[in-house]
Amino acid sequence: MSFTIQNVLIPVEGGYETADVQVADNCISAIAQNLEAVGTVIDGTNKLLLPGFVNAHTHSSEMWQRGIIPPLPLELWIAELYDFTPLDPEQVYLSALGTAVETLLSGGTSVVDHLVLIPGQELETIAAAVRAYQEIGIRAFIGPLIQDESLTAGMPAGDSTIEHRAYIRSTKATLELMESAIKQFHKPEIGVNMLLAPTGIQLCSDALFEGCVDLGDRYNLCLHAHLLETSAQKQLAQEKYGCSAVEHLQKIGFLTPRTSLAHCVWLEDSDIAILAETESTVVHNPLSNLRLGSGIAPILKYRQAGVNVSFGCDGAASNDSQDLLEAIKMGSILHNITDLDYRHWITPRQSVAMASQGGAKGLNVAEEIGSLTVGKKADFVLYDLTSLSLLPRTDPIGLLILGRPTNAVNSVWVNGKQIVAEGKVTTIDVDDLRRELFDRSEWSSQRQSPMVGEIEAHYRQVMKLPGYS
Ligand SMILES: [Zn+2]
Repeated sequence: MSFTIQNVLIPVEGGYETADVQVADNCISAIAQNLEAVGTVIDGTNKLLLPGFVNAHTHSSEMWQRGIIPPLPLELWIAELYDFTPLDPEQVYLSALGTAVETLLSGGTSVVDHLVLIPGQELETIAAAVRAYQEIGIRAFIGPLIQDESLTAGMPAGDSTIEHRAYIRSTKATLELMESAIKQFHKPEIGVNMLLAPTGIQLCSDALFEGCVDLGDRYNLCLHAHLLETSAQKQLAQEKYGCSAVEHLQKIGFLTPRTSLAHCVWLEDSDIAILAETESTVVHNPLSNLRLGSGIAPILKYRQAGVNVSFGCDGAASNDSQDLLEAIKMGSILHNITDLDYRHWITPRQSVAMASQGGAKGLNVAEEIGSLTVGKKADFVLYDLTSLSLLPRTDPIGLLILGRPTNAVNSVWVNGKQIVAEGKVTTIDVDDLRRELFDRSEWSSQRQSPMVGEIEAHYRQVMKLPGYS
């Protein structure tokens, strides 16, 4: 299929240019002024074309719990989350659709779903998410969330000696499950990519990390994990390894140019040097870090050290939305308070590059997507510059990133296929999705999590919060 977008504004060095963009065989075939119209002609007048952004870290099924979890730090928030996690693949399908719709309508063309698996229905869970992403047409990177230690092991022990229950599945069985998932679902040619995604040092053994590295090498797949999201995890790493989590992960071979790491809030300068040296990618999830009180990731230091950084929304229960433009805005201006030297602050154009090229690089697909370049796949977004939120006319990218764009996405293409037109997703019926989400949920405010009650006293003790004995 081929098409030509005519008279569209595109960013160029130092400004903008009006040009035509031609697409043939799913790829950008030409960008120039006054090109001969090939295939369908699309009028790009008063519109801005940008490469699609990557929602580089989320957990789609958390959508079922957005807005309901009280203000709690990660270690207690996650207990509440686990107590009420969906147990039905159809719900997984619907929340994956919902995550994709919100990502597309806020400038994203790719999503990294660190997918929570339903125990006993692991492959069915992955199949449900794959079905959703295939139907809607977003480029998907699915990292089934795996661990091999039970939830209580994720907190530092402090002075106490706690016996942790064994995890529901052995490390070996989990790795076998991942290998079957890879064989069944990893199909980059149709936009479905599998990642090896152990949840993080807090709940994973070395054997699990090393098994993932091995599978990643054998199948040429990317690695993904949470890293030092909270100060409790930093403390835990010292207890567990006697060195920093980053030093340990480097030692066991988990840090590579194909590795992306969500959060990275509690790293020392020596850890940052290791991320730079191993060419690992940091995924910044500013809204989640604020919502859970995790801290402010040292993003400006990463950039100065040459570490690749991209943006994620994180799951909708710690955000509580999937608006990528909102995450990019917050993740850009938040750091102005961390460094007096304004020359280090992130400019709107740098934000766009981080969200597109940075996202692609972290997934080892920078040769294929992430910029408006002839030969790359046609994954891009057309913004309506006559939208009220993008008026009056100033610097389009400045306003898109620093403003509060609403109804600004006009069209989205992924792999050369148009999946949003006139601001509406065209591949699925969003009204049906709304109905399903409505019918399968209820208004509620008085939920009680049994697990939070069980672990709160210990958490307050190890974090030295008032009221512990
Ligand atoms: Zn996460």
